[in-house]
Parts: sequence; C-alpha cells; structure tokens
Amino acid sequence: MEKYIPDVYQKSIYAIDYTKLMEKGIKCLLFDVDNTLAPYHIKNVNDKLLELFTQLKEMGFQVVLFSNSGKKRLKPFKEELEVDCCANARKPNPKKFLHVLNTYHLSENEVAIIGDQMLTDIVGGNRVGITTVLVNPISLKDPFWTRPGRSREKRIMKKLRDRDLFVKGRYYE
Ligand SMILES: [Mg+2]
Repeated sequence: MEKYIPDVYQKSIYAIDYTKLMEKGIKCLLFDVDNTLAPYHIKNVNDKLLELFTQLKEMGFQVVLFSNSGKKRLKPFKEELEVDCCANARKPNPKKFLHVLNTYHLSENEVAIIGDQMLTDIVGGNRVGITTVLVNPISLKDPFWTRPGRSREKRIMKKLRDRDLFVKGRYYE
C-alpha cells in the first residue's frame, strides 16, 4: 500500500511549506495542472496562482508543469506562469518523470511532484522515488474520463483509512 501514500499531504498548493521542501534539498517542483492549479474548465491563471509561482521562482525552484493533458490545455498556464511544461506525461508511467530528471540533471531526492490524484501523481512519483505531495482536488466536478480513476481512488483511500495509513483531511508535512 506504500505506493499510494504521499510524503506530504496538504489542503492545497497554498498550504504547502515550500521553505521546508527547499531545506530538504528539493530543487525542482513538478506541478499537476487539472484540479491542482485550476479546475478543468478554467483556462487562465488568477492573481493568487501567479503570485505563488513568482515567489517559488524567486526562491530558486525550477518549476515545471507536469500534466497528463495535452499541450493545448497547458499553453495558457505555461505562458502566463512562465514555466517549462511537460504535456501528455502519462502519469503514473515513470518514463516522463525520468526524462525530467535527465533533462535538468537532477536526482530523485531533488524533485517533488505536487498533485491531486493518488493513482497518477502520487503512484507515479513514488515509483521513481521522488518526493510526493498530495493536495485536495480544487473542484469536485471531475470530467467523465477521470471518474473511473476517482472511484478506484475512493476504494483505495478507504483501505488506507481502515489501516490508519492515510486519512483524508488529516494533513501532515
Ligand atoms: Mg489533477
């Protein structure tokens, strides 16, 4: 069950202690986009998000959008936030995670993935051994194509809760 358990769990991207991640040696932050940065139907960046990303870059993080969505979906985020992006990442497949590590010459302990889905963001990150950060999804309205994953996630979360390994809403750093 360990592959499902994130290293860090916070309410949202705004609640994460990025200073602590930096102190741990994290140099690169991979952000999931849909329901982590913005709901699925939102196509642009709000001030709060822009402010956070500006701050993260000023802190010295390499910030990369790391999404299973296509280039077209990521374009406005990439342009407005002025960060690199990796589209069609096929999380939890490790291939593109490893590609990012190679491209930026980083080791596993220098990279963190931040996302809202246990089965893609967290499982993928844990497979390659990077730091995994789970946040709650912004919107509860998932598009139909992620629903099978969500119900599987629910079942897994129940198992984890029964074993007291992970409890939704019980945040930790
Ligand atoms: Mg997501």
